[in-house]
Amino acid sequence: MTRIPLRSDLRALSGYHSPQVDVPVRLNTNEAPFSPPAAWLDEVAAAARDIDWNRYPDRAATELREGIAALHGVSVDQVFVANGSNEVLQSILLAYAGAGGNVTMFSPTYQMHAQIARVVGATVVEGKRNADFTLDRGEIERVVAASKPAVSFICSPNNPTGTVEPRDNVEAMLAVAPGVVVVDEAYAQFSPWSALELVNDDSPLVVTRTFSKTWSMAAARLGYLVGPRWLVADMEAVVLPYHLDAFKQRAGLLALKFVGDMEARVRDIVAGRDKIVDAFSRLPVTSWPSGANFVLFRPDTLAGTTVWQGLLDRGVLVRDCSSWAGLDNCLRVTVGTDAENEAFIAAMKEVLA
Ligand SMILES: *Cc1c(COP(=O)(O)O)cnc(C)c1O
Repeated sequence: MTRIPLRSDLRALSGYHSPQVDVPVRLNTNEAPFSPPAAWLDEVAAAARDIDWNRYPDRAATELREGIAALHGVSVDQVFVANGSNEVLQSILLAYAGAGGNVTMFSPTYQMHAQIARVVGATVVEGKRNADFTLDRGEIERVVAASKPAVSFICSPNNPTGTVEPRDNVEAMLAVAPGVVVVDEAYAQFSPWSALELVNDDSPLVVTRTFSKTWSMAAARLGYLVGPRWLVADMEAVVLPYHLDAFKQRAGLLALKFVGDMEARVRDIVAGRDKIVDAFSRLPVTSWPSGANFVLFRPDTLAGTTVWQGLLDRGVLVRDCSSWAGLDNCLRVTVGTDAENEAFIAAMKEVLA
């Protein structure tokens, strides 16, 4: 059998996979712990019968984009939708970086920013966060001035650290960046501010959002950006025709009728996050302030991997970040339901006892 070698520049990339283990309490991938509303599911089921399945979908996903635009008080031509915010990020990188362009990000951060950049053939230039995971304005200016990036990323709140990026830093990046500035707001509803207020046609700023977390729709693969009109128009050049299927367009549009339910779930999760942080204050662990639905922590007395395994032995799966650069011994726990959070805290007490 002849095996064709993978493109040589991709061979070293290991991909981004969170190991899934079948356990009762799964707190490792930052999904919502709750199902979407039952009424939404009924409407989606009815919509499935309504679709002209023999026809291509609305290529521009107009109704869905109108709904998202109304949600944020922007116009429909400022919104681009795709199969998860990861496809949104890929489209931006294809359009503006491509082979040879520089792409900056500040580590530790969401690994997919570097991963997708490398897949499109771009060159990754990583800046560094401080020991407490905040980001210095000077570091932003140094890295951006030196690398003249075609695309720069800021993740706020930052995955996996939970750090909320101050508005000053986003503005500082915009002031020096020669290319597109992407603020990845996958967790924005859990955090105190959004860069959406900075979006306009005269600024190369894009905010990306997802239905995977707050909307309890990770299975649907739906995400979007809000940005300048010229940038939304440019996405047409890189996206595949009819990339967003008709069923998903309907499912997303119907979800927007349940924004109140989504906001109630967000409040529950923030309350759960507060309880976890409170429990951490009475355990031998260091944790960092989070504006998201997860908390990064480091056990003070045991190795991170030991604690990860101890939790797993008690049926609780968290994310082991302990081997990631800059995250020695760190673990990340996603906020779950009350029962899941209590199971996690009880398991932590046992493991650290
Ligand atoms: C979960 C996550 C996403 C979501 O990606 P989807 O493709 O929309 O599921 C994007 N950015 C960050 C930082 C995330 O943590």
